[in-house]
Amino acid sequence: MNDLQLLNTSELQTIDNEFHLHPFTDTKHLHKVGSRIITDAEGVYVWDSDGNKIIDGMAGLWCVNIGYGREELIEAATRQLRKLPYYNTFFMTSHPPVIELSQRLAEITPSQFNHVFLTNSGSEANDTVIRMVRRYWTLQGQESKTVVISRTNAYHGSTFGAASLGGMSAMHESGIPIPGIEHIQQPYWYREGGDLDPNEFGKKTAQSLEEKILELGVENVAAFIAEPIQGAGGVIVPPQSYWNEISRICEAYEILFVADEVICGFGRTGKWFATDYFGLNPDLMVLAKGLSSGYLPIAGVMLSDDVASVMIEDGGEFAHGFTYSGHPVSCAVASENIRLLSEEGIVKNVGAEVGPYFQSRLAELSQHPLVGEVRGVGLIAAIELVEDKATHHRFQSDLKVGIRCRDHAANRGLIMRAVEDSMVLSPPLIISKSQIDDLVDIATDALDETLRELPS
Ligand SMILES: *Cc1c(COP(=O)(O)O)cnc(C)c1O
Repeated sequence: MNDLQLLNTSELQTIDNEFHLHPFTDTKHLHKVGSRIITDAEGVYVWDSDGNKIIDGMAGLWCVNIGYGREELIEAATRQLRKLPYYNTFFMTSHPPVIELSQRLAEITPSQFNHVFLTNSGSEANDTVIRMVRRYWTLQGQESKTVVISRTNAYHGSTFGAASLGGMSAMHESGIPIPGIEHIQQPYWYREGGDLDPNEFGKKTAQSLEEKILELGVENVAAFIAEPIQGAGGVIVPPQSYWNEISRICEAYEILFVADEVICGFGRTGKWFATDYFGLNPDLMVLAKGLSSGYLPIAGVMLSDDVASVMIEDGGEFAHGFTYSGHPVSCAVASENIRLLSEEGIVKNVGAEVGPYFQSRLAELSQHPLVGEVRGVGLIAAIELVEDKATHHRFQSDLKVGIRCRDHAANRGLIMRAVEDSMVLSPPLIISKSQIDDLVDIATDALDETLRELPS
């Protein structure tokens, strides 16, 4: 074995290419260009193996809400590793870290949520949701209520079940989606709104849920699942009319509403959950990413009192779970993360100060010739690039405008993500106003450079 600390970037890239298959990656292309190797991080910054300091405008993968390098989280993990590195929560056992985390989650989630089922990833949590909602209806003698309705261009994870819930066509192959999952139109006004104003379009797309329920028969529908703001789909913020109408329909037809809060939760919108921000009333809530600020893998499903009581009182054994459900070290880190987000007023500060500042600084970029729309809430946003601002007409995909802009930003010291031609941002919640200014300056330079490169 090599001592990897002593290797330079190209040596590391060569070994990476030789032995490592990356997720969501065109490996052949990666082998040509080599991966960017991240070696260090502190606050909102990461450093690559060439020593470049980069603002992490994506908080890792939408998850490092508290920022990098928090000693309290490192100590919580170390303390727990020494005391009890692992024990399971099957077979009538429990341990203090999982007990503490469960109680904390009940405290910070909306009042109907007092029970959590823990998993290791958002994907596992969404697979759990499919089993849970079907079981909920079966236990009440309604076995036919099995279908889960989701949206096109939704992202709910990568396991078979979660990818089926997702509405990304690139992930739909080889038996995905599984039977019993249906998709309705996403509320993406800028792309799909046509002549309707945002509120009319929001109401119309929400009503496609009602149409789908009537088409399938309400006796066959178990639940509707949605991200309050679609993240991986390109930070799509629905008009308020959408959520009002969705809530009415879920209540009228008495189907379960599942809010996938994996990205929106833990302060991203300036509230603890986007459910609080939009005034939603879900029956199940899916948590991951910001739950531990990404320091260790952990995720879970919150169950409303109604769902929990059916599962507990009528259920007997729920034959489902993971070896690492409620892993003590992950739980200890998650509890400490929630304590800090709360006691340091980090979530409040996103709502009152840095969130509005971030949105207003980014809104200035609407003036840029490449920018069609800037949208977002709190510390999540997208800058959508278009060829024609009046008609919202896109660039030809082979121009790879989003990728170019992303690469120019990275070379100047800012990580943004390109979802087609939407430049997506979701920085750590501890970002300061002056760091937001730096971020906007680099994003502006990257847009200018992208514009210069385009054929006129
Ligand atoms: C990332 C994500 C998931 C999947 O979580 P993993 O931990 O990657 O399995 C699910 N839902 C949403 C909304 C996500 O953004």
